Amino acid sequence: MSKKGELTAVEKQLFEVIEKNDTLLLKTLLPQIQNVNILDENSMTPLQHAAYKGNREMVQMLIDQGSDVNLCEHQHNYTALHFAGLSGNIEVCIALLLAGAKSNVTNTVGRTASQMAAFVGHHSCVAIINNYVPKEEVDYYLKNKPLLPKFLAESFHKFIMQVNIHPVKVALNLQNFLGLSDHLQEIKAILEHMRDKEMKKGTEMNEVMAFKFHYLSCISNEIIKLRERQKDAKKDNENEDEKKLDVTELFTRKLLKPSKENTLDFLDGLLREYIREFPFRECTLFRQMLTSLTGKDAPSALSVITAAINGQRGFIDTVTICNTCGEEKPGKKCSKCKVVQYCDRNCQRLHWHWHKKACARLGQNVGEPEKISPDANELSAEIQNLLVKN
Ligand SMILES: [Zn+2]
Ligand SMILES: [Zn+2]
Repeated sequence: MSKKGELTAVEKQLFEVIEKNDTLLLKTLLPQIQNVNILDENSMTPLQHAAYKGNREMVQMLIDQGSDVNLCEHQHNYTALHFAGLSGNIEVCIALLLAGAKSNVTNTVGRTASQMAAFVGHHSCVAIINNYVPKEEVDYYLKNKPLLPKFLAESFHKFIMQVNIHPVKVALNLQNFLGLSDHLQEIKAILEHMRDKEMKKGTEMNEVMAFKFHYLSCISNEIIKLRERQKDAKKDNENEDEKKLDVTELFTRKLLKPSKENTLDFLDGLLREYIREFPFRECTLFRQMLTSLTGKDAPSALSVITAAINGQRGFIDTVTICNTCGEEKPGKKCSKCKVVQYCDRNCQRLHWHWHKKACARLGQNVGEPEKISPDANELSAEIQNLLVKN
């Protein structure tokens, strides 16, 4: 319950302390406050002020003290999460989301917290808010069908909240997150169920989340299909090359295959298919995505999906990405051409099949290549050779 009306001296002091960003003083003051769900003259709560300051410690203290994260009497209907999005502090956003903050509440100009964050350019907050799934949503499947094996709950939760939705990264996560790759059928079934459940939530429905579940289920299904095909290939003694690769590698190789114009046509075609397969064809998001994809100069399906899930980035997008998995600000460069960038050696290895031809050409204009602290054990034979030649 919120308390309106005249504030006591100590309650007034609470607002002052937060305004001054004085975390230590807040700590000593809080035990003296009976009810932290109080409002100042602008109908803002202490928690909303702390969120706007972007002070995670203060926010956590106020939550622990019983702050209602969804209490909203602000005249423009800003929630604590709106203020957190404006502050640009990811940790504050996470603290509020973990405490049950609703992300679909709109302010008086019809914007959600993530849209306000996007408006002021805090894109990592947008990504965090848009990709957040409450743990209860996963726990539901520990008791209800389709059933999720208990030991998968944590990796599955992490999987559905992944921010980088490049299909290579999704496939790598399916392979690397504990237990997922052995339970792809269950994961696919749960994702489809979550998608349908999300769309039936009425006013609480989150189309973006529903689409993301759908998208992840499509990729899981792709790996399932490839695995089956590989089994058949083993029987038939065909496709010598494909048999040597594990499914993730095989999938990655297909995705990264460049066409003549150096575009990733297979990847684009596949993602367009995933969009078209979204079963809720009346929803706004689906229509927007289809519209974006029509026309001669349409952006890639990957950028349309990324914009739908993680928000539009505008024109200031100068962030470098890994050539293999799309991860932002990768730490490594190809040692030879020094042009293409990768997260790590595994990403470099996965791309090498296609990059090896382009590498020499790209590197012609640079001087002696530098090594990137090679650890030969992790490299495929071809990259090892390359490093030796250097
Ligand atoms: Zn990468
Ligand atoms: Zn190279």
